[in-house]
Amino acid sequence: MFKKILIANRGDVAIRVLRACREMGIKTVAVHSVVDSSLMHVKFADESVCIGGNRSAESYLNISAILSAAEITGADAIHPGVGFLSENEKFATMVAGHNMTFIGPSPEHLRMMGDKIVAKKTMSELGIPVVTGSDGEVKSVEEAKSIAAQSGYPVLFKAASGGGGKGMKVANSQDEIENAYKMAKAEAKANFGDDCVYMERYLSHPRHIEIQILADAYGNVVHLGERDCSIQRNHQKLLEESPSAALSKTQREQIGEIVTNAVKKLGYVGVGTLEFLYEDGKFFFMEMNTRLQVEHSVSEEITGIDLVKEQIRVAAGEKLNIKQEDVNFFGHAIEFRINAEDSLTFMPSPGRIEELYFPGGNGVRIDSHIYRDYVIPPYYDSLIAKIIVHASTRDECLAKARGALDELVIEGVSTTAELHKKLLCNKDIIAGDFDIHWLENNLQTLTKGEIS
Ligand code: ADP
Repeated sequence: MFKKILIANRGDVAIRVLRACREMGIKTVAVHSVVDSSLMHVKFADESVCIGGNRSAESYLNISAILSAAEITGADAIHPGVGFLSENEKFATMVAGHNMTFIGPSPEHLRMMGDKIVAKKTMSELGIPVVTGSDGEVKSVEEAKSIAAQSGYPVLFKAASGGGGKGMKVANSQDEIENAYKMAKAEAKANFGDDCVYMERYLSHPRHIEIQILADAYGNVVHLGERDCSIQRNHQKLLEESPSAALSKTQREQIGEIVTNAVKKLGYVGVGTLEFLYEDGKFFFMEMNTRLQVEHSVSEEITGIDLVKEQIRVAAGEKLNIKQEDVNFFGHAIEFRINAEDSLTFMPSPGRIEELYFPGGNGVRIDSHIYRDYVIPPYYDSLIAKIIVHASTRDECLAKARGALDELVIEGVSTTAELHKKLLCNKDIIAGDFDIHWLENNLQTLTKGEIS
């Protein structure tokens, strides 16, 4: 097992990884930007190193500074957390080149899944159902028009190197193709330095359902069921739950088996998530995330499995000691992302936390790095807390969540908490009757101008 892990991240996920290390008796090194020197993961870690300026490029994406910090402190592994360098093939290769372990999959798998066109092709060959669309890159407006003429409208252009919902544009008719294609290409180039785009049939009422997997280096793969992440804005998740109200036990077992078989054939090692759209009883693969995900906590709550500890164990070459039949699902869990954002416009709302009180009690888990008087910097992701609620049934979970969100006090900045409270009183949410477009279609009615 590793002796010392450097955590190349910040915020709640840095603390999450740090907690797992502490439980495993592994020493930790925190890295941070100048503005983050007073963050809790820096205080809790055994050692800390300031790796650069406030912009991510100067610090959390600064490969040479992170590698130097790891060498100076004698770390034998690096945990990349979520976002930043977690899916960066070059970083993973360089970590290995410095005789340290990258806690994540191989550079080869990062490359394969990092290109969504290659990912879809690979998964399709491994027996996973995919969304229909172009056969690889769409090279011209004419090609786009001819593909759409065959598949029918609407269609969606997506960036091959995409992420975070960027570089996606819908075309509802032939007239909209040229504009959507050009805009998707420009956005892809600006965000990912790669203007390669591909096309998919745009599904009108799908749910976003993803399957969590865990794999070791000896061909053992288990799945931890699904998470329903259909409540989204700007193609970004806001609330995640497990199990999904849309799936039966049989459907869960079927898709779980298809996914574990494919991952086994792929030879993938680590934690990972296969993201699907689910419409009219059918699954359509979109992409694989080759890292821990923000919403991993939901699966941890209903299975009792600590995904971060397991991730560290398999990275250290240990065998999985969980078999599929050992994975049991208990009750229902929902995660509420509390972002420092305006509830209606979703514009970031950085600033000082004037007052703070977190809810608690049985089945209420808080993953957060903020504290009273903490000043949220404008440089990073707006996620400031995750409230994860676990109960025996979905209805009990919703009731518990209402109480937890009522207890929550965050003053000084706008957050998404107010929106979550409204969601919890909505009949469609209570009935579990929604798709990925639901929030955008219902936002105005839901908030009725009350939230600013
Ligand atoms: P990213 O990596 O940028 O998050 P994804 O491929 O995971 O991109 O898609 C993000 C979200 O965009 C999905 O959860 C879904 O809401 C929407 N989306 C993606 N592909 C389609 C599609 N073919 N039809 C309808 N919605 C889609």
